[in-house]
Amino acid sequence: MTCQDHKDLMMAYLDDELDEQQKRAFEEHLAGCPDCTRELAQFRKLKRMTDCVAFVEPEERIWEQYWGNVYNRIERGTGWLLFSLAAIILFIYGGFQLIESIIEDPTVSVLMKIGLLALLGGLVILFVSVLRERVYFWSRDRYRDVRR
Ligand SMILES: [Zn+2]
Repeated sequence: MTCQDHKDLMMAYLDDELDEQQKRAFEEHLAGCPDCTRELAQFRKLKRMTDCVAFVEPEERIWEQYWGNVYNRIERGTGWLLFSLAAIILFIYGGFQLIESIIEDPTVSVLMKIGLLALLGGLVILFVSVLRERVYFWSRDRYRDVRR
């Protein structure tokens, strides 16, 4: 066998794909051939590098997925925040309209008015919170159905 024949076997040798006989012949040749030994070292380095690349690739995908999820979470969080704010503003405004007559009624005490506003505010926040939860679980269930 020539040196070129051995060089052709190097990748297979590094991948441990040679049978016992081929392996022994290859190692015997290496023992007496510094040229092939040097080349094998380079192949080994190359293999380690390509193994590294192959190892890094799925990891990068995980990171991409991670940042995708973070982006989704930020997007959803922002959406919820805007939705909540809008809902609170609209409900408080609507509530104001509704209890305006009470607020403007001079016979109702200031403390009563503050109490009413606090009650309304609390109700709005609770309502939005429950609504958010409902919509969140509903969209998640739907998502799960689509995935299934
Ligand atoms: Zn050789």
